[in-house]
Amino acid sequence: MKILKFGGSSIRDAERIKNVINIVKNDFKNNNIVGIVFSAFQGVTDDLLSLSMMAADRNELYVSEFLKIKERHLKVSADLLSAKTRLKTESSILSLLDELEEILKGVYLIKELSAKTLDFILSFGELLSNAIISLAFLESKIENELLDAREIIITDRNFGSARVFFDDTDKNIINYFKHHKKLQIITGYIASTSQKETSTLGRGGSDYTVSIIGAALEVEIIEIWTDVNGVLTADPKKVRDAFSISNMDYEEAMELSHFGAKVIYPP
Ligand code: ADP
Ligand code: ASP
Ligand code: MG
Repeated sequence: MKILKFGGSSIRDAERIKNVINIVKNDFKNNNIVGIVFSAFQGVTDDLLSLSMMAADRNELYVSEFLKIKERHLKVSADLLSAKTRLKTESSILSLLDELEEILKGVYLIKELSAKTLDFILSFGELLSNAIISLAFLESKIENELLDAREIIITDRNFGSARVFFDDTDKNIINYFKHHKKLQIITGYIASTSQKETSTLGRGGSDYTVSIIGAALEVEIIEIWTDVNGVLTADPKKVRDAFSISNMDYEEAMELSHFGAKVIYPP
């Protein structure tokens, strides 16, 4: 059994998503993939964060920023899905966008953005990307089911960087996967408190989502796909001759991620 994760950098646009579909199709024949975790499209979490702050500051420009996010998601679904599929499914994506718009209007009106509300707003990045990707997989004849990680990952109320309650979470994961045998398309980063409030696992947290689920299911392999070839000696965006490290142990990986190598999320 194995579980995969593709970050925002792998799902920036329709082209990249098609690439992911090909990777999964090739892998699928020979490997028992139980689930795939996806983040929000690249940059969407940052955009949601900045437009939430604009709304809380009573800056009306948040509306045009919201419309850009909306257009971007509708364009990706138009590029990926046939007209027939869109007719049947676009309402689910539109209703997520409508809900997000309403919440932002609320933030604008009351000029208040709590950590809890912000987590709720940020969750729309993963909810939207996963809804679109699940449909794109179906259209490519990859049977799957959408799994909202808030159903299984339970955290404390430390919004923005919530701590996982592993007893409940592991039980939920094992139980859920016992009853759902299709490939699961899973929202990264988001979770919920025991009172069913939306929480998030901290920025970059989709790496953690796939690890939590993979560990609970005791899969043989957790694969984290991104835009660079593994862990390098330094950030290749900053150091041109950085090269991939062929083997590393747990301690070394921890050290690198603690010193800011975004390629792996420390927890
Ligand atoms: P994703 O969207 O897939 O989660 P991230 O942007 O979070 O991707 O992480 C991948 C990025 O991490 C790479 O593009 C690279 O710039 C950066 N990075 C920083 N340090 C390292 C490192 N030591 N090895 C590899 N990548 C690194
Ligand atoms: N979308 C979230 C973020 O940008 C989670 C992730 O990318 O792993 O932080
Ligand atoms: Mg990341």
